[in-house]
Amino acid sequence: MSLVEDTGNETGKPKSASTPGEGDVAPSGTASVKPPRSVRPGTDSSPADLGATLAKMRAAARKAGTPDYDTRLEHLDKLERVLVSRKHDIVKAIAMDFGVRSKHETLIAEVMIAVNEIKHARAHLHEWMETEPREVPWMFLPARAEVLMQPLGVVGVIAPWNYPVQLAVGPLVCALAAGNRVMIKPSELTPDTGELLRTMITETFAPDHVAVVTGGTEVSAAFAALPLDHLLFTGSTRVGKIIMKAAAENLVPVTLELGGKSPAILGEGYSLQRAAVEIMAAKMFNAGQTCLAPDYVLLPKGKADAFVEECKTAVASMFPKLVSNDGYTAVINDAHYARLKGYLDDARDRGGKLVEINPAKEDLTPEARKMAPTLVLHPKEEMLLMQEEIFGPILPVKTYETLDEALAYVNDHPRPLALYLFDDDAKRTDKVLRETVSGAACVNTAMLHFAMSDLPFGGVGGSGMGSYHGKDGFDTFTKKKPVVYQARINAGSMMRQPYGGTLDFALKMLIGS
Ligand code: NAD
Repeated sequence: MSLVEDTGNETGKPKSASTPGEGDVAPSGTASVKPPRSVRPGTDSSPADLGATLAKMRAAARKAGTPDYDTRLEHLDKLERVLVSRKHDIVKAIAMDFGVRSKHETLIAEVMIAVNEIKHARAHLHEWMETEPREVPWMFLPARAEVLMQPLGVVGVIAPWNYPVQLAVGPLVCALAAGNRVMIKPSELTPDTGELLRTMITETFAPDHVAVVTGGTEVSAAFAALPLDHLLFTGSTRVGKIIMKAAAENLVPVTLELGGKSPAILGEGYSLQRAAVEIMAAKMFNAGQTCLAPDYVLLPKGKADAFVEECKTAVASMFPKLVSNDGYTAVINDAHYARLKGYLDDARDRGGKLVEINPAKEDLTPEARKMAPTLVLHPKEEMLLMQEEIFGPILPVKTYETLDEALAYVNDHPRPLALYLFDDDAKRTDKVLRETVSGAACVNTAMLHFAMSDLPFGGVGGSGMGSYHGKDGFDTFTKKKPVVYQARINAGSMMRQPYGGTLDFALKMLIGS
């Protein structure tokens, strides 16, 4: 069955007024605005209950032992079935949370990629689970050494709001493939999706196997403080630091999937038209609310005006309309809308040249939270949009005189989650890939690496640590336990006191006299 079917209505309820709640999303220098919070007091988890859920899962894991290959396949099958059968509910719930979320963006980014991840895991699980034989130095022969793949136990996943299903389910696939039990905490900014996830998981897995806990940041904070066997957090760099501190109290290993500013660099002579299409398609997907969205553009001096024209053409052909277009996603809530407007006001106040692309010249009201893609030409470093991750449809466009200058700019900033290069010159491409460090890189496209299950996905430095997807995700949630088996007859006695001539001979052979 096609993943893309007409659900009738992809637009959820209008959501204009934010409910006061906790959490400050305003960047430094702008007014503090509060995001809405989960308003489900009847169903939200209490921070005090989380420890009991973990204890039940631990006890169940001990009782059931390590799930075998067939059991894990069954878990993956069940997850795939519920994702596919509830795909229209997922489209609706996310549209409710966003106000407007493109149905196709949901089906591609939340369902299709997760299903592909499951299919990839299923196809390779047997080989991933296999015990790996390792080399034994001759003096320890006939010992045998191998690495046993063992589930870590009970692992935690904290997800953000921007892809609320994918970023909860993607890590879940890896954790289940690796044989773990899993606790998931969705974002409080997408309560409808969080509730749907909870229902789907409750219907599919035993409560001591996979559990979704919902609630505000107090629940997230209690979750991060649990003595889990691993914690995978996806979210902002700011909260990532809080998570790592909380996890450190229990020495819980963490994978941090964070954000940052991912550059798009255009090489000399590369088609501005092709680059504009790729960059604007990636930037406008989910209205720029993607950790991997191109955050700013670096292009050769003298090309900015022509690039702007190509961006206008690209946007007009993809999005002839913005407001009356259910395929163009809204900004998640009033707080984030105000944050993005704050970046634009700040850029304008500091003398920036703003180019708003509004093909049908529609009236963009704050109530609808549809934001026109806006280019900011020659941004100054002190502007907020050059200091903070943008996470919306705003694109600063900077020019460079030499490629070295562009690379120095990238390298002077925290390591990005991704770097996008648009260049047909192999030598320059090689130089850029070698001289920059980023979570990932794409050449002549953007964001595509996320959809490739066989590539490790994760940041580096400020954009995160560790990785998941495919085998790398399996490894993240697996204890690779080295095991040595010694034979009854062996040369071990040579290595015990009192040391004798045989050892002296062996040492001479190995390290000289
Ligand atoms: P966020 O950091 O505000 O929140 C993420 C999660 O952390 C939420 O579930 C929230 O409940 C929880 N949280 C918030 N405060 C907490 C606290 N004090 N203690 C414990 N948990 C807390 O991020 P967000 O606004 O939901 O998502 C946007 C950010 O996520 C952006 O920076 C984006 O780049 C990043 N992101 C990264 C990836 C990736 O794969 N690297 C993917 C998507 C989003």
